[in-house]
Amino acid sequence: MNEAASPLLIDRFNRQVEYVRLSVTDRCDFRCVYCMAEEMTFAPRADILTLEELELIARAFVELGAKKIRLTGGEPLVRQNIMALVENIGQLDGLHELTLTTNGSQLTKQASALHQAGIKRINISIDSLKPARFKKITRTGDLQKVLNGIDAAIATGFKRIKLNTVILKGRNEDEIIDLVNFARDKKVDISFIEEMPLGLIDEHNRALSFCSSDEIRDIVSAQYPLTSTDETTSGPSHYYSMNDSESRIGFISPHSHNFCHLCNRVRVTVEGRLLLCLGNEHSADLKTVLRANPGEIDPLKDAIIAAMDLKPEKHHFNLEEEPQIVRFMNMTGG
Ligand code: SAM
Ligand code: SF4
Repeated sequence: MNEAASPLLIDRFNRQVEYVRLSVTDRCDFRCVYCMAEEMTFAPRADILTLEELELIARAFVELGAKKIRLTGGEPLVRQNIMALVENIGQLDGLHELTLTTNGSQLTKQASALHQAGIKRINISIDSLKPARFKKITRTGDLQKVLNGIDAAIATGFKRIKLNTVILKGRNEDEIIDLVNFARDKKVDISFIEEMPLGLIDEHNRALSFCSSDEIRDIVSAQYPLTSTDETTSGPSHYYSMNDSESRIGFISPHSHNFCHLCNRVRVTVEGRLLLCLGNEHSADLKTVLRANPGEIDPLKDAIIAAMDLKPEKHHFNLEEEPQIVRFMNMTGG
């Protein structure tokens, strides 16, 4: 077991990178309005990392001291043979936690296999409990399928299930309490994520739809008094507890509360781009290294170590301006 803090994944600002978000596909069965354009152009198949390449990247990070890997996308569960990758990463010696973020549409079929493959915590995204509205926000999603998926995940016995919700003004802000009540009823956690200006969308104006964590917290705490906790899941969520429920309420606030100084994470896109920051383009091209040295882990590790120097101090999101980040969240590994 690699218990000691690795000196290898430390950046110029003395932050230790322990958490890797690995995008296993840019494809998705939904087209959420804040995440994608209606007509998306996805990466050419030849540019997409194979499952073996994704596994080698995961192995390299873990051997360098990463403790936590989250599989994401796009929708990770639409990738063919994803379960083989989950099983192989789940067995890496030194990895403390393997997690997954999903839109829930495939969970009735896959929850149990995911759990058996070593995933103990899972995040499921849900922005509305009203079928027609859910369809409008996701453009293609079927609410009932996701609700069934959430129930399947609960029945499977994951250690922790967290719902992820993006609140957009004029869209679903009237459902904040309903969504909190849903989490309480199901005895799961819920995190509210501030919308981030990733990718150019014309479906809505992000500056007008933006709903801050503070606004949401005020609405929730008017109904349920919230107590701040210092709990972390090695992510940027700030958690609150309620005195009459086990469910925790998290807020992920890249705009209103800058958490860059605590950032312990990097992302890898399905095209093998190692992104050092969600809100900057600083990156290293791992695919070229992988394909020049097929199956070899050492050149990959060298490239990852070298990339630590590229991690910028902080992101600069500004909703009033054109997005500086042209990649969409599904490309980024949200
Ligand atoms: N498809 C999976 C899902 O929806 O959970 C995993 C990938 S998705 C990109 C991960 C998370 O990013 C989701 O909870 C989604 O709501 C969030 N997300 C996508 N685009 C976003 C944006 N522009 N701002 C904030 N959150 C976003
Ligand atoms: Fe797909 Fe997730 Fe993006 Fe929605 S947020 S379009 S489910 S990748």
